[in-house]
Amino acid sequence: MNDVNLSPWDTALRIHEYSEPGSSEFKSSELLINILRYKGFNVIDHYLGIETAFRATKKVGSGKPSVAFLAEYDALPGIGHACGHNLIASAAAFSAIRTAEIISNGTVNVIGTPDEEGTGRWSGSKIIMAEKGAFKDINLVLGSHPSDEWSVGRRSLLVRDYAVEFKGFSSHEAASPELGRSALDAAILTYTAVNMLRQHVRRDANVVMHGIIKEGGKASNVTPDRSLLTYGIRSSDPDYHGTIVEKFRTIVDGCAKATFTDYEIREIGPLFSITKINPTLSNYIRNKLIEMNVACPTLQETWSLPPGGSTDFANVSQVVPALELDFQVARRGTPWHSNESLKAAISDMARKSLNIVIRVLSETAKYFTDSEEFRDNIRRDFIDDPMK
Ligand SMILES: [Zn+2]
Ligand SMILES: [Zn+2]
Repeated sequence: MNDVNLSPWDTALRIHEYSEPGSSEFKSSELLINILRYKGFNVIDHYLGIETAFRATKKVGSGKPSVAFLAEYDALPGIGHACGHNLIASAAAFSAIRTAEIISNGTVNVIGTPDEEGTGRWSGSKIIMAEKGAFKDINLVLGSHPSDEWSVGRRSLLVRDYAVEFKGFSSHEAASPELGRSALDAAILTYTAVNMLRQHVRRDANVVMHGIIKEGGKASNVTPDRSLLTYGIRSSDPDYHGTIVEKFRTIVDGCAKATFTDYEIREIGPLFSITKINPTLSNYIRNKLIEMNVACPTLQETWSLPPGGSTDFANVSQVVPALELDFQVARRGTPWHSNESLKAAISDMARKSLNIVIRVLSETAKYFTDSEEFRDNIRRDFIDDPMK
């Protein structure tokens, strides 16, 4: 049980070494559970029936208000911790441990949220947790994510994935082509038509449509009777996303008609929502960083950038005031999910940034437990949603 006394940095290194892909983070979650139990947290293992999830809780004084830190610890299959979730794990556990040491009243939680990358069974586990009411008794959620720069209040895109299956009719392509109906033609027509739609969408809605043809036939002399496409459709505007999905469905329907094939459209996985930004919380955390001489773009600069990706943290931000702090562990412009970011997740810069994140998040949590005005302002922002 020597592992229970690991430092934040050694914990991050150990999880980097474990390198467990989403939904099979057994050693990583166990390490965090042991550390938190040793520090006096009560731990529910397999939280909500999710094998590698957990919820650790420590009550101080009156036990109110309640703050949660979200830990991720999944690696990318084949590459390892090239998204740096080993650092998120350590940041969450040790921010919670420090918070419990410096507050007078409150409940401190660490929620272990597996499979952020969505490569396994519990893909987007935070969405499952949000839907099952895991955050109902929590007043504030704090998280962090390594990056090539510090930033606060980054927005994200709503995304839903779709599978489109076309069914045609196979026939000999030379002897009796008139009897065949090509599911591959339907797939190619769809792929082309979606490319054409891309030009005619609202530019301010940050629409992204990315698709592949996964199956398109087995032999060139047999009419392909089955084809399969998968698409991710994203936007920063939830209503407009619905409009685009309707157009996408119309395209599939039209392409099926044109090729005399049948089709089925299936939704894959959960809906990742947009992040609800909390200006009071964002402002406070950015000011803390500036106080600590950390260069961080202004909130206006961050908000003026088009959102790049999607995250299940966004679904949490829709049900409880929440913020995910981006912290720099690599030089600007480093590609993510790469060998460079894999090394960055155990770099000297990461070690220094991890300590800053733990300080900033725990001090934010402390201020939240101390100041009723801060809590009220955060709550008001959450209800009014001034960024909408
Ligand atoms: Zn990632
Ligand atoms: Zn990530």
